Amino acid sequence: MSKSVSEVITCKAAVWWGIEEPAVKVEEIQVDPPKSSEVRVKILYASLCHTDILCTKGFPMPLFPRALGHEGVGVVESVGEGVKDIKEGDLVIPTYIGECQECENCLSGKTNLCLKYPLTLSGLMPDGTSRLLSVKGQRLYHILSCSTWSEYMVVDANYVVKIDPSVALPLPHASFLSCGFSTGFGAAWKEAKIEKGSTVAVLGLGAVIEGVRIQGAAKIIGIDKNERKKIKGKAFRMTDFINPDECDKSISELIKEITGGMGVDYYFECTGVAPLVNQTLLATKMGKGQTLVIGAGAHSTVEINFLSLMLGGNLKGSIFGGIKAKTELPVIIDKCKNKEIQLDELLTHQVSLEDIDKAFELLKQPDCVKVLIKL
Ligand SMILES: [Zn+2]
Ligand SMILES: [Zn+2]
Repeated sequence: MSKSVSEVITCKAAVWWGIEEPAVKVEEIQVDPPKSSEVRVKILYASLCHTDILCTKGFPMPLFPRALGHEGVGVVESVGEGVKDIKEGDLVIPTYIGECQECENCLSGKTNLCLKYPLTLSGLMPDGTSRLLSVKGQRLYHILSCSTWSEYMVVDANYVVKIDPSVALPLPHASFLSCGFSTGFGAAWKEAKIEKGSTVAVLGLGAVIEGVRIQGAAKIIGIDKNERKKIKGKAFRMTDFINPDECDKSISELIKEITGGMGVDYYFECTGVAPLVNQTLLATKMGKGQTLVIGAGAHSTVEINFLSLMLGGNLKGSIFGGIKAKTELPVIIDKCKNKEIQLDELLTHQVSLEDIDKAFELLKQPDCVKVLIKL
């Protein structure tokens, strides 16, 4: 790796070359200096999220070659001349939605989907160009607003959040805050605003269960094909567990049985498997139950039962757990500092960037929750 501040940096990154490719490749790439509103970040830790895997299969658009990774934490190496509130040496995490605090959506108090700094699905910087060039001479697409499985990346300064070094948050855990943990935790805390004593079902056990626990749910039903998640779920006060492969009834029927025929107040769909969304709707309380879809999926359409909607069924999707990057992510960071949140329970495996292909295999293992990548 060679480097000179505000000049092109040559470094290592994990690249996916095309939809037919069998594996990720670690390549030498060139990273441009940041433009006026951007910062270049030296990544320290990154992690693997299911959305990265979906992107290798062409979700939401087949953009290749692509430098993957959207969870991470790093140190700002250089800043564009127009950047005011971030300086060299700041510790930052990327967020894929910004928060301008002045657009119609930011001011509404109803959504975190900022109109000025939106989710970027083009694989490019907000100005429509890429800062990453493969040494083989091709422009690389980013993923969302960033590319964290790269020793260096460029990101628009409106898509990073500074971490106060006095918070003493373990850096590996900080990586999970860029997507996975915040999405799950935020869905329970900000989107659903679960009341104490609620009944909750979680399909696809992950970080959402920690949010559900902290909000004080009385009954937490975990649903997962992975039997080992039953053990992990109990650490988060899960009260019931359903393994759909071991039952001859539908998930909604089983949930109705567990809840005395009522269904649950809140149902979190975290798998992204479209045919299961209807099951979640059928398993919520008539008239007031709420289903939150938080897992990205490869299916583009969902079929739902018309009657369950007419009977007051609520179906809502959410990105980044409804968390506003600038004003609410720091609240989560504070909760971590005060040990109100068990982030350490999520870290199960670690690999180096050179061994990143192993991360994909590890994620399939039954005891795996989060794989950390040390850069
Ligand atoms: Zn805004
Ligand atoms: Zn993610």
